[in-house]
Amino acid sequence: MAGRALKTGVRRDQRLWPVLMLLLLAVIVPTACVLWFMTEAMRNERLAVRQRLKEVYHGQLVALEQRVREFWREKLEALAAVDLQRSAPEIFAGLVNEKVADGVVVFDASGQPAYPSRLPPRPAILPPDSADWRHARELEFERADYAAAAGAYARIAGESSGVDSVALARQAQIRCLVKAGDSQTGITVLTDELMVDEFRRATNAKGRFIVPDVQGLALQVIRDAQDAQFRLIAESLRSRLSDYRDPALPAGQRRFLMALLQSLSPDELIFPTLEAERLTARYVDAEVPAPGNTTLLPCGLPDVWHLAAPTGRIAAIFTRETVVNDIRMLTASQGLPADVTVEVVPPGAPPSRASALESLPVGGSLAGWRLMLHVEDARFLDTAADRQIAVYLWTGLLAVVVVAILTLLIAGSLRGQMKLARLKNDLVATVSHELKTPLASMRLLVDSLLDDEKADEPQVREYLQLIARENTRLSHLIDNFLTFSRMQRGRQVFRIAETRPAEIVTMAVDALGDKFSSPACRLDVEIAPDLPMINADADAIVTVILNLLDNAHKYTEDPKCIALRAYPKNGSICFEVQDNGMGLSPRNAKRVFDRFFQVDDRLSRAGGGCGLGLSIVQFVVNAHGGSISVDSELGRGSTFVVQIPVASSLS
Ligand code: ADP
Repeated sequence: MAGRALKTGVRRDQRLWPVLMLLLLAVIVPTACVLWFMTEAMRNERLAVRQRLKEVYHGQLVALEQRVREFWREKLEALAAVDLQRSAPEIFAGLVNEKVADGVVVFDASGQPAYPSRLPPRPAILPPDSADWRHARELEFERADYAAAAGAYARIAGESSGVDSVALARQAQIRCLVKAGDSQTGITVLTDELMVDEFRRATNAKGRFIVPDVQGLALQVIRDAQDAQFRLIAESLRSRLSDYRDPALPAGQRRFLMALLQSLSPDELIFPTLEAERLTARYVDAEVPAPGNTTLLPCGLPDVWHLAAPTGRIAAIFTRETVVNDIRMLTASQGLPADVTVEVVPPGAPPSRASALESLPVGGSLAGWRLMLHVEDARFLDTAADRQIAVYLWTGLLAVVVVAILTLLIAGSLRGQMKLARLKNDLVATVSHELKTPLASMRLLVDSLLDDEKADEPQVREYLQLIARENTRLSHLIDNFLTFSRMQRGRQVFRIAETRPAEIVTMAVDALGDKFSSPACRLDVEIAPDLPMINADADAIVTVILNLLDNAHKYTEDPKCIALRAYPKNGSICFEVQDNGMGLSPRNAKRVFDRFFQVDDRLSRAGGGCGLGLSIVQFVVNAHGGSISVDSELGRGSTFVVQIPVASSLS
């Protein structure tokens, strides 16, 4: 039987594996597919969100580019609309004050810079060289007699007739008065004599205007911005420096005096054109070749760009900062979301960040420049995608859970089906196998009797006894099968009635017949007195005891010493069958109640067993609300105890 059981086990495994594999595949394949779809969907969703945003922002960026182009077209129009009949300094001041450009160079008809000019405003003239001048200079520079020198210069001024000469002499007089420590007189000379309209055009030999220079000197001497004379002179100088009309100061002198005035009175005096003057001076000093067209190009100075007015007579100069800020200003009015920034990248320059959401080249005057749109917080993109992804995730998860649950249900149902099929197979195999032996024995005995015509009576009797024994064994087997079958179908009916335990024991012992009557077998029956009644199907419990006694007999070598006891314990009646047989290992003791379980099938078969007896016993006992246990030791014997609740405690 062990061999058969093993073979059956192999068959079961072989049958089970493909099913398990299929079930596993049924879970793994859809799960893997769902996961794959999910990852793809998630990636696509992120890309789609990016794409959608790109499209939205592309439109905005195109609109911004048009505004930038328009903005620069207006600049060019302003440059083209300049009235070239006006003086170069006026053109400069006009364009700078209207913020058309950061710096401006105005060229004359011959292409030379007219403002700021590298040349003095008029051809240089020789300084005055009369005897009086020489004497006065000697007093000032050689003798350092400043008071005398001041007097000498004052006389020259009084006697000279030309505006330039008078102004020069007054300048020298004031200089000497300051050196002589009489600044106050010098300032009075300035305010009374020089600061009059007559000397507005007076210049020195280098073409510098005399009055503003003297005013600058006076302010440096006074230094007190609160002083009334300081304020008077400063205001006069400020208006002169801001005035680009004819006669215009040379750019160098204007720049110098503007810076001086601003440093002496930084809070009050602001020259909006000073930065433009400085930038243009740097540009002119660097002798930058004039720009060729109306496209903004680098001029060679760091971060300084220039373009030509459509007339070709003006070079407009721009710092990168201004270009960028202007575009930023246009961007601000574009109404882009707060976490979106537009970077302005000049031609050839690398963008500050590696990846931009969208990028667009600017046309027109800013050809080669690029607008790059960055999303400050990249998580914003993800958040938009995450919402959709969460939907995918939950759907995927639901699909996986549903597949898993369905698979579990199918697996459970399959297991049940297979168990049933296995049970049927086992039953058919066991039944046919177990029936074969007694039938074969009986047939052999009957054949022997038929063949032996001269058989004497004792021999015939012996044969008939043997046939009767096989018959009993057969009936016992068939009884067990029928009971088992009824158990399985739930058709086993018990006729429960109040029964005396002693009666059950007596019935069982009577049913044994002479089975235990051999000399090598002893059966001790002990029934405790006054046992309470139990609610039981007497026949079923008798079958239980018979099964246990039958096993004790089968699995015990001669001399057998078997005891059957009935006694009360904890509200139950215990029916105990003890033997001194082969016993059971702890592992087997746990399995003896399993269907078809046999420790050694050869032994069982010899005694007419098929591994169903104890499972039937357990079924009957459980149906009575009782329990069965076994206490066994290998080689020393076993004790099976059945507990059935007494009638009063069974409600
Ligand atoms: P079987 O018809 O084979 O006796 P059972 O269900 O009655 O089937 O018993 C199951 C197995 O338990 C037996 O095959 C045997 O190996 C073991 N077994 C049962 N009773 C005893 C016992 N008293 N002593 C030793 N082994 C036993």
